[in-house]
Amino acid sequence: MEKICIKGMNHEELQTLCIEAGETKFRGGQLFEWLYRHGISSFDSMSNINKSFREHLNEHFILHTLTVENSLPSEEDKSVKILFRTRDDHFIETVSMVENNRHTVCLSSQAGCVLDCHFCATGKLGLKRNLSTGEIVDQLIYVRENTDQPITNVVFMGMGEPFHNYDNVLNASDIFHSPKGFNLASTRITISTAGLLPQINKYIKEKRRYKLAISLNASNDKVRTKIMPINKKWSINDLIKSGKEYSNQKKRLIMFEYVLLKGINDSEEDALELARLLQGIPCKINLIPYNEIEGKYQRPDEATITKFSEILHNYRDEYRVLVRWSKGQDIAAGCGQLAGQKK
Ligand code: SAH
Repeated sequence: MEKICIKGMNHEELQTLCIEAGETKFRGGQLFEWLYRHGISSFDSMSNINKSFREHLNEHFILHTLTVENSLPSEEDKSVKILFRTRDDHFIETVSMVENNRHTVCLSSQAGCVLDCHFCATGKLGLKRNLSTGEIVDQLIYVRENTDQPITNVVFMGMGEPFHNYDNVLNASDIFHSPKGFNLASTRITISTAGLLPQINKYIKEKRRYKLAISLNASNDKVRTKIMPINKKWSINDLIKSGKEYSNQKKRLIMFEYVLLKGINDSEEDALELARLLQGIPCKINLIPYNEIEGKYQRPDEATITKFSEILHNYRDEYRVLVRWSKGQDIAAGCGQLAGQKK
């Protein structure tokens, strides 16, 4: 009989598993804590679980979903890029970034991606498959085990489109948030989407509490469609309308990401158009200077980036603007540089 993966199961699923094995429901909670709070690497470490049940688990369940192929520390800052191999031989990457007391882990939600945003390295791979909840959780367990610095933030900004893998991303987030799991506040978990409108609306309707970021990347549909084919399906106005709804509902600001691409979306007119577009929308704007990968796009020079940000700042409004310089540039660990390549 083929073994089932236990990593990624939630509280209820673990309770059911226990009952089916003739154990009490209570054991499910114990398993949850062993799996996620302690991140055990062997069923035999579960000291309050009887031996025969541990044997049963060993016989029927798999604990590990990923193996580490490579762990690459940056020489410029305290970031580390980890390359994992899945059990069916796909490669995914995770980035750990430490700055002062903040330790942010950037997780992948898919091997590859179907979206084909033209500036993104992951987009060039095409979609291999969605990651399971266990594979998402195992990325974080690995980082937690291999750094001294406690993890303070999780962002779904690695490989893939999180909202194409909605259920697994949210199940994993629930495990990260659970006091018996990773105990991270909901405001410390951010899900970033290229703009899948039905899933954004579902997310709002379900009153999910994690932070939401939408990758806008342009101030009009013409430019956005050129760089992000998904825009043919759901336009900027649709996204902004939903973003506004999110901000209003949760008293939690929607974040709009905007990758600055030289000569494409970085002019003073673009900045003004963006300012007007987001006027009256309570939101945060994250400007991301482009991280170059193979291809035709380039990062604007610093003066252009500063000017763009100043124009937004000066256009007095409700939003907050931040320029986000990606970490781990020397190890190609920046936003959009993850290609899961085994070098
Ligand atoms: N698919 C999701 C999450 C992954 S990308 C999304 O699109 O939001 C995370 C962020 O990195 C997005 O805002 C994306 O626009 C940005 N990005 C992609 N490639 C980039 C690159 N080469 N340089 C800088 N940012 C990039």
